[in-house]
Amino acid sequence: MWPRYGSSLKIRIAAVASLMFVAGIALISFFVTRILHGDMQDMLSKQQLTATGYIARDIDAKVALRLESLKRVALNMSPALFSDPAAMQTWLEDRKAIHTLFPTGLLVIPPDGGPALGDAPRLKTRPKSFVDRDWFIGATTTRQPYISRPLIARATGDPALVIAIPVFDRQQKLLGVLAGITPLATPGFLDLIIGASPGKHGTYELIAPQHGLYALTTDVRMAVTPLPAPDNDPVIEAALKGQRGIKVIRNAANAEELVAIAEIPRANWLLIARQPSVDAFEPVSNTLRNALLITALLSLPSIVLLLAILNRLLQPMANLAGQLHDMADGSRPMRPVETHTADEVADVAHSFNRLQSRLLEQEQRLAQMAHQDTLTGLPNRRMIDQRLESELRRIQRNGLGLALLFLDIDGFKPINDAHGHQVGDLVLGEIACRLHSTVRDVDTVARLGGDEFLILLNDTEQPLEAAERVAQECIHALAEPIRIDDLAIRIGVSIGIATCTGLEAEGMTVQRLVNQADNAMYQAKAEGRNRYVAHDGNLPTPLL
Ligand code: GH3
Ligand code: MG
Repeated sequence: MWPRYGSSLKIRIAAVASLMFVAGIALISFFVTRILHGDMQDMLSKQQLTATGYIARDIDAKVALRLESLKRVALNMSPALFSDPAAMQTWLEDRKAIHTLFPTGLLVIPPDGGPALGDAPRLKTRPKSFVDRDWFIGATTTRQPYISRPLIARATGDPALVIAIPVFDRQQKLLGVLAGITPLATPGFLDLIIGASPGKHGTYELIAPQHGLYALTTDVRMAVTPLPAPDNDPVIEAALKGQRGIKVIRNAANAEELVAIAEIPRANWLLIARQPSVDAFEPVSNTLRNALLITALLSLPSIVLLLAILNRLLQPMANLAGQLHDMADGSRPMRPVETHTADEVADVAHSFNRLQSRLLEQEQRLAQMAHQDTLTGLPNRRMIDQRLESELRRIQRNGLGLALLFLDIDGFKPINDAHGHQVGDLVLGEIACRLHSTVRDVDTVARLGGDEFLILLNDTEQPLEAAERVAQECIHALAEPIRIDDLAIRIGVSIGIATCTGLEAEGMTVQRLVNQADNAMYQAKAEGRNRYVAHDGNLPTPLL
C-alpha cells in the first residue's frame, strides 16, 4: 500500500512540528534582535556622541589656539610698523612660529581696507582691497577679534578660514587688522573629519549655521557650499532648530539616521555626525540573517530526524494498519490482531479484536440460523443437503455406504386442528427430540418443514439393515403418546428408506436419493401408515 503523503499522520505531524520549530526560532530571533537592537542603539549612541564631542572639542581647541596665538602676535606689534611697510613685511616674515598655524597667509590690512601693509608668504595674487571681506568688516566694526565665514582662499583655491585681530594704538585708534588665513583641510586642523566617517557609510559635517554654509565635510568637495533648505534635510533642520546630543532622525529619503550634534563654541559652528541606522545596526541584521540561515539549515536534519522518530513511534500503528488491510483484502485470515505495546495503538487493537469477535459470533449465529430449523433446533433442508452431498463424495472414497430415511408424521394436521398450532409446535419439538435419541452422534436428523423429517446414517457398512433398525426405533419412539399439559397425543410415522453404497455413489445425486426416500415414504403411507418401506432399487425413481 503506497502512503498517501497529504493524509499521512507522520507527514502532518512532521509538518506541524517543523512549522512550530521555524515559528519558534523566528520568534526568538525577532525578540533577540529587538533586544540586541536596543542595546546596540544605546552603545552606538554613546560611542557616536563621545566621538563627536571629542572631535568638536578638538576643533574648538584648535580654533582657540589659532585665535590666541594671533592675539599674542598682535599685542607685540609696534605701532611704528604700520607706517613702515618694509619693516612690517620683515617683521611678519620673522614671525615664523605662527606661520605653521596660518600657512596660507599672515596679512596686515590698513584701516582703509587695502592693499595689505605686509603679507607672509608674499604672494602676487593677494587682492588689493579687503573692504568687502566679512572678517575685515567684522574686526573693524566690532573692534574685537573676528572669525570669518568659511571661504575659498583666493590665493590657493582651498577652503580656508580667516582670523582677524584689530590692532589699536594707545589712544585706541585703529592701526590696522592682523589677519591669519588657515586652510581648513590642513594637517593638524580639521583633517580629522576629512575622509573619516562614523560607522561604514556615515559622514561628518561641520557647518557654520550663521553663514548657512558647510565649513567642511567628510566629502571635501562640499566644503564652503550652501546648506540645503531645511525642508530638504531634516537632520540639518534639527541642528538649526537647536537639537544637540544624539537622536535617531528620519531623513528626506525616509531612512533613519543616527545623528550626533555637538557645538564648536569658538567658531559658532556645529559638528554633525550622521550614519544610516541600517548601517549602524548591520551587525544586528547580520545576526538575524545568520540565525534564520542556521534555522533553515538545522530544520532540514531536524525534519529528517523527526520523521525517523515518528516512523519508529508510529511503527505499531503501521503494523496494525497492515494487519487490518491484509484481513480486509482477504490475504490474511480473520483473527485477533497482535500488538506489543501498551499505548493507544494497543487500545485500538483490543477494541478491534472485541469488535471482530462480536461480529464473528453474529456471523456464526446467522450461519447457524441459515442451517438450522428454528422450531426444533435440528439442521434444516439446506444443511442436510450439504451433508448429504459431502457424504456421497466421501463414501466414493471410503467404500462404505449411507442410508436416508424420509419421515412424515401420520395424522399431524388433526392435532393442529384440534389443539391449535402452538400445541402442534410443541408436538413437533418432542418428535425432534425422540428422533434424535434414536441415532448416533455421527448421524443427522433434519426437519424439512411441516411434519417431514430426514435421517442420514453415515458410514454404514450395511446401510439397509442400519436404516431398518433406525426406522423401527423411530416408529417405536413415536408410538409412546406425547404429553402436553394434560393431553396425551398419539401419532404415527411413515418412513421411506433409500440407501447408497460407495460403488453406487458415483452416479447418485442428492435430489435423486431424497426422491427415492420420499417415494418409499409415500408407499408406506399407501400401505397403511406407521411403517417403513425401503426403496426398491429396480424401480425407476420419478422426479418431483
Ligand atoms: P398425513 O397423515 O397424510 O401425513 O396427513 P397429515 O395430517 O399429517 O397432514 P400433512 O402431512 O399432509 O400435512 C402436514 C401438516 O402440518 C400441514 C400443516 O397444517 C402442518 N404444519 C406444517 N408446518 C407446521 C408447523 O410449523 N407447525 C405446526 N403446528 N403445524 C405445521
Ligand atoms: Mg403428515
